[in-house]
Order: sequence, then structure tokens, then C-alpha cells
Amino acid sequence: MRFFSIKNFFKIFLFVSILGSLCYFVIVRLHYAYDIISFEDYNPKSTLVVSSNEIKRAKYPFIDIHNHQFDMPVKDLSDLVSEMDSLNMAFMVNLSGFRGQYLKMCLDNIKKNAPERLGVFVNLNWENIDSDTFLENNIKILRDAKKDGAIGLKVYKSLGLTDKDSNGNRIAVNDPRIDPIWEECGKLGFPVLIHSADPASFWKPKDKNNERWLELKQKPNRYRNPELFPSFESIIAEQHNVFEKHPKTIFINAHLGWMGNDLDRLSSHLDKYPNVVTEIGAVLAELGRQPKRARKFFIDHQDKILFGKDAYNQQEYYTYFRVLETEDEYFDYYRKRHAFWKMYGLGLPDSILKKVYYKNALRILPSINKSLFKS
Ligand SMILES: [Zn+2]
Repeated sequence: MRFFSIKNFFKIFLFVSILGSLCYFVIVRLHYAYDIISFEDYNPKSTLVVSSNEIKRAKYPFIDIHNHQFDMPVKDLSDLVSEMDSLNMAFMVNLSGFRGQYLKMCLDNIKKNAPERLGVFVNLNWENIDSDTFLENNIKILRDAKKDGAIGLKVYKSLGLTDKDSNGNRIAVNDPRIDPIWEECGKLGFPVLIHSADPASFWKPKDKNNERWLELKQKPNRYRNPELFPSFESIIAEQHNVFEKHPKTIFINAHLGWMGNDLDRLSSHLDKYPNVVTEIGAVLAELGRQPKRARKFFIDHQDKILFGKDAYNQQEYYTYFRVLETEDEYFDYYRKRHAFWKMYGLGLPDSILKKVYYKNALRILPSINKSLFKS
């Protein structure tokens, strides 16, 4: 008799299923008996009674400077634009324009189907940095992109973190071989949105003291083993050195430059580099947990902060509006791995909201149609 008959297979399947269910039942009973709840499951409903002002539409038309639409060459833009309309998003910057034919298809789609509502940043490949034609090719890509209608350069975090030259050596953010490219961006009027490093907690031990423990559990490849990666501080020092070397180029230091948890430090950074502005994409939770300090930060640096969101999700914008516009207390953020804490509104004055929502971005991206922002 063969062991692996269909009959035996079902018997084993049944046995494993029953055993599995029993184990599950016992574990649940034990958790219940000993009051054990996993950190992910613990989600108490707040009993606090305070005024609550959910906002589904920004008070003023806004520019999202940090967005990714990876399917833009073939995307039907009409749904996206109607969602933008409902949020009061007048203009979206898709940072993932890539280059060459892909970029052209993005730009053609916009021209045909949503002119004046979307813009695209070009991306370069740094890994051929030691090729003889590296500069020539990339400067041509930038100039062609400008001619075709792209409005800036986006630099991914892979530069300084994982990108390697042909000998397998890491390419530093401030590698002098890139200098002429940063200069060219200045000449072309291309702002450079640059994401360097990651939250500093990704370099810290994955233990109970780590504020991003949950994120490192859910996304293990975000852990930056200090033995395999350069330190957080060394990468951002390289990035800041680029800002210093190229004062005629405008840099948008993405994600508050990963200094949203230390606004004194970010303030000195912005004071030090007149050519640097920043944006709040994916780091709203840092601001919403320190409303008093964050409000002062927005007042002090009102000309240097741009609105960005990063991952596109219509409902998640509501939390951004609520943190920026209201004085609500103790409300939910939408992603526990970024914030197991609650949000508080900053209650920004209208004059500052207008700067953050669109005036600062319009200064940097003058090709955007200003009549979209009559308010
Ligand atoms: Zn991004």
C-alpha cells in the first residue's frame, strides 16, 4: 500500500487542521487567562470627550510636492484628478518620473489628460558613476527632461545607502563626481528633492527601547545593521555637505531631513542653508505629537516648509489637514508602525497654512499655473 495515497493525504490534512485549531484555542485561552494582548492587537478606544473636527478637504488649494504614481505612463488620470479635486489638491508632483521613454510617456499622459494639474521629477542612475560618459549622459538626461516638461530631480535614498560603483564601493551622497549634476540642476532651475538615510531608529537595536520596533518587525528589511551600513549621522553629514557645496541649487530635504523628532536641530539646519527647504511627507506623526514645539517651528520657518504626503491614499490626507489646521486633541494617526501615539492639532494661522499648502512650492516651481490658487 502506498503511504501517499489521497486517503492518507486527507487524514494527515485533517489531523494537522485539528491540531492547529486546538493549539490556537489553547493559546487564545491562555492569553485571556493571563491578560496577554499583543502590542499590535492593543487598540483601546479612547473615552476622552473633546471637540473633534475631521477635515476631508484642505482649507486652501494645495500642492503635494512628494507623491509617487508608479503607473503614470498608462494611468487613467481622470479618477486621480477627481480625488485631487475632492481633497482640494490643485497640483501633484509625481517624483517617480524615471527618465527616457518612461518619462516621456508620463509627460504625454499629463499633457493629454490633466494639463496643469500634475508635474514630474526625473530620476538618475548613479551606479555607472565611474563610466567615462556618466556626466555627459546624465546632463543630457536632465536637459532633455527639462525640454520635455519635467520640473525637478528626485534623488532616492539608495544614493549613500546601497548604490555601488563598478568596484562594489558605496557611493557617498557627496561624491565629488556628482558635483556637476547638482550644479546643472541649479542652472536648469530644477529643485532637487533628496531623500537620504532613514529614521535614525532603524540603526538602533531592535528591542523594547526602539520607537520603531513595530516597523522593524513588520518590515524587517528596513533594519540598518550598523556593521553593514554606514551610520545615520555619516549619511546625513554627506547630504548636508552637498547643500553646502552647491548654494545655487535649491534642495528639498525630504521627510524633514529625518530631524522631525528634534526640531531644534532641524531649525538650525534650515537657518544654516538658505538653499534648503523641507517637506512633511510621511513624518506628520513627529509633528502631531509635539503641537506646541511644532507650531513654533512652522512660525519660525514658514517660508521653508512644503506640503508632502509620499504614499498616495486619499483618506490619509485627512489626518494631515487635521494636524495642520485644527486644535483637536488626542486623535488617531493612521499607521501604528509610525505612531503608536496620538495626534494633536497645530492650529496654524491662515497666513502660514497658505505658505505651506502652496505659496512656498509655487516659489520653487514657478511653472505651476498660479490661477489654480485663488482663495
Ligand atoms: Zn517618497
